[in-house]
Amino acid sequence: SQDRVFNFAAGPATLPENVLLKAQSELYNWRGSGMSVMEMSHRGKEFLSIIQKAESDLRTLLNIPSEYSVLFLQGGATTQFAAIPLNLCTPQDNVDYVVTGSWGDKAFKEAQKYCKPKVIWSGKSEKYTKIPSFSDLDQSSNARYLHICANETIHGVEFKDYPTPKNGVLVADMSSNFCSKPVDVSRFGLIYAGAQKNVGPSGVTIVIIRKDLIGNAQGLTPVMLDYKIHDENDSLYNTPPCYGIYMCGLVFEDLVEQGGLKEVEKKNKKKAEILYNAIDESKGFFRCPVEKSVRSLMNVPFTLEKAELEAEFIKEAAKEKMVQLKGHRSVGGMRASIYNAMPLAGVEKLVAFMKDFQARHA
Ligand code: PMP
Repeated sequence: SQDRVFNFAAGPATLPENVLLKAQSELYNWRGSGMSVMEMSHRGKEFLSIIQKAESDLRTLLNIPSEYSVLFLQGGATTQFAAIPLNLCTPQDNVDYVVTGSWGDKAFKEAQKYCKPKVIWSGKSEKYTKIPSFSDLDQSSNARYLHICANETIHGVEFKDYPTPKNGVLVADMSSNFCSKPVDVSRFGLIYAGAQKNVGPSGVTIVIIRKDLIGNAQGLTPVMLDYKIHDENDSLYNTPPCYGIYMCGLVFEDLVEQGGLKEVEKKNKKKAEILYNAIDESKGFFRCPVEKSVRSLMNVPFTLEKAELEAEFIKEAAKEKMVQLKGHRSVGGMRASIYNAMPLAGVEKLVAFMKDFQARHA
């Protein structure tokens, strides 16, 4: 609509317009219940129908096998950085981390408190612009799990395929590419994601875990971080983030209606392609540092050859209702996050603006 901007923020991020309008229409009185979802008991039949439908649509989207549990938790992906080692290993256990950006690095550092993690590959010396070839990974023979960040939100590098752990299970932070494309869940022991990029508001964290991995948490694990407690209580051990789960449910329903994740991936590929092409065809005026084969479909970092123009670029774009294009404070430059809910029209408008900006400033 006229008064909405194209929001390229990395998260919280843009949500589908039809989902927002649906939530608006149901806000005051949810489907004749006489109250909003925010006011309902989390144990009442209305909310149970909401969380069950959300889970069932997510299972449809990702084709989640029955031997996996889906948990709707709180605390963001950051809380999972601790919950994962606490639940999957003892303090003496070895685990492996592939560090392809800042988020993988944070996950590794948190795990140091609870087990013996080892960085078996780091892209830091190449400024996190690469994904390693899997044959180069020197995996520990006794690692309980191998952790990757499937899409590094700040650096814009994305795994296009996944390594096979030598011994333990594969664990992936999918916060910034969750539900952006089909994923073979059976290759993972655990997948986790904060909702606030592709699937809803912040406050909901989704964990998909193979059931046999549940039930071995370290003794000092807080009750709120113990997967067994949440699994046994269908994510209702305590009061869950009800409204956020409702919003995620509306997004899942929308993704199913779009034809599922294969269709969604097609749209995401098209958007990413026109943006990367605009960068690559600018004769160096715009640059993306990430190796081409591993460029993210979700987060597109780029710089200007004339770095002194970056502030002007961001300011002019904002005037044309394209906002939040500033790169992360740790890397600078620009970043366009083009999650599922960013329409093609938003990317087309950005590309047209980039070409015009170049014509005026080259
Ligand atoms: N992992 C990734 C890949 C992220 O992008 C983020 C958030 N930007 C986090 C973890 C941290 O998530 P949260 O803020 O939900 O704790």
